Amino acid sequence: MPAAPSILTDVARDFPDGLRDESRRTGTADGIAFPGSSQEICALLQQATQAGRRVTIQGARTGLAAGAVPDGGLVINLSRMDRILGVSFGPDGQARVCVQPGVTLQALRNFLEGAATDTTNWEATSREALATLRTQHWFFPTDPTETSASLGGMVACNASGACSFAYGAMRRHIHRLTVALADGDLLELERGVQQATGRQFHLSTRSGRVLSGPLPAYDLPQVKNAAGYYAAPDMALIDLFIGSEGSLGVITEIALTLSPRPPITLGVVCFLPDEPRALDLVAWLRNPQPQAGAPRPVAIEYFDRGVLELLRAARARGAHLPPMADHWQEAIYVEYAVADDATMDACSAALAGWIETHGGCADDTWAACDDLGRQRLKEFRHAAPEHVNLRIAERQRLHPGLTKLGTDLAVPDAYLRPVMAMYRRDLAAAQLEYVVFGHIGDNHVHVNILPRDMLEYAQGKALYEAWARQVVAWGGSVSAEHGIGKLKTNLLQVMYGAKGVAEMRALKRIFDPATLLGVGNLFPWEK
Ligand SMILES: Cc1cc2nc3c(=O)[nH]c(=O)nc-3n(C[C@H](O)[C@H](O)[C@H](O)COP(=O)(O)OP(=O)(O)OC[C@H]3O[C@@H](n4cnc5c(N)ncnc54)[C@H](O)[C@@H]3O)c2cc1C
Repeated sequence: MPAAPSILTDVARDFPDGLRDESRRTGTADGIAFPGSSQEICALLQQATQAGRRVTIQGARTGLAAGAVPDGGLVINLSRMDRILGVSFGPDGQARVCVQPGVTLQALRNFLEGAATDTTNWEATSREALATLRTQHWFFPTDPTETSASLGGMVACNASGACSFAYGAMRRHIHRLTVALADGDLLELERGVQQATGRQFHLSTRSGRVLSGPLPAYDLPQVKNAAGYYAAPDMALIDLFIGSEGSLGVITEIALTLSPRPPITLGVVCFLPDEPRALDLVAWLRNPQPQAGAPRPVAIEYFDRGVLELLRAARARGAHLPPMADHWQEAIYVEYAVADDATMDACSAALAGWIETHGGCADDTWAACDDLGRQRLKEFRHAAPEHVNLRIAERQRLHPGLTKLGTDLAVPDAYLRPVMAMYRRDLAAAQLEYVVFGHIGDNHVHVNILPRDMLEYAQGKALYEAWARQVVAWGGSVSAEHGIGKLKTNLLQVMYGAKGVAEMRALKRIFDPATLLGVGNLFPWEK
């Protein structure tokens, strides 16, 4: 076992960013280490276990739930573990890429688009597979908007994004993981290999120990979900670690399954006069009429009038955004992945026809199928969370206790209109400033409350919890993609009840008996 890497002990001075993430919460730590290999991670974990020292795992710190914000103890920051380790093809011909956890989404994309990578330590079969990969068209569909996110962090949060409407969340694209446990032992998990028997599991570590016990007994909601441990009868045990938010082990290696890149991607921003018509468009897009010749889209994203106003104001202050006519109150972004020009034309014609008959205007619709045009549409989509964050940062200067209050709730299809009506009713009654945007195809919009002071902040938090209760009663999730972290532990309790949370704690103790990893994530730390 190699020596553990050196630990910087004055984190506030030497790496102050290591005390916070994109939730804008700041923590404390008495050391931070930047390991370069799995062995170094294991050595750090062994030391920490012997000393009874808590460990917080950090990827790129783009998380929004403070999961990577330390609460004392040691931070293991994985940004140096940024190597692509190899390429292979599965028996079904699907391409796979093996990476260290600190590889960012952007670096993976660059690699898949042809950027050179150091293959010195690759096996010969992997180099041959890379040569084949270069002649084919593959991509990685999970896109949590922020491309500086690390792949380890994306696995740990079961991240998703716009195209998860068609491609599913991160979970669907993970073939194999290596996980370092709190005591420095390793687990190898491969999809299709380690399965639970009913709600019981057994796993052998690399050193030969057997870890076993019951899985939580709760049923998961039938919606997009990133809240708490995945648990289901006969489940693939790799799924326990996807979405575990740094609380079960350190993900040290990931084999990702790639998807065939569609020949044509068409992006369209449709502007509409009001919310009812925006919701009608969503319903129509989800159930395309076969005779129109347009397939189901891969992404359906929503922007309410508050977002459009925020972006118009940002543009007036010089932000690089296209002009938007004042009379449009709502917008829907639709993305199609199609095989040929004829299908693309059918999509455009079907959409233009619908817009014209429902109060929109085809001439005010933005569409692009080339890289540059789609990049502009993407910038427009990404501008919403960025400008919300800037607005919150301004207000934090006056009220340092404020954090972003962005919801992450998802409901089944039948409850999209009721949930939107609930948000509008309650926000109007409370007279809070807010914007709504996000993944409406999955009935998963982010209500971003923009509190002007701490009183409004408290009001917003109370609303969030009340909504969570209603959403759970409708069969939804309290966190569809950002995770629970340290900011939403109350909502995990709302979703699974005291019994479900106790079952999660018991599961954690099987992998981390001294409760040292990701302390405070998912459930409050019990001293
Ligand atoms: C502008 C903006 C937009 C966003 N939009 C989306 C979106 O659309 N969809 C979405 O899903 N997310 C979104 N996010 C959130 C964020 O990008 C994701 O949660 C991402 O997966 C976090 O990755 P990270 O590397 O930054 O992880 P971090 O923030 O560093 O960590 C997140 C959690 O994962 C754990 N962790 C990190 N690495 C490991 C590892 N190797 N092993 C074990 N645990 C680990 C940490 O302990 C922590 O609990 C957005 C963020 C921003 C700033």
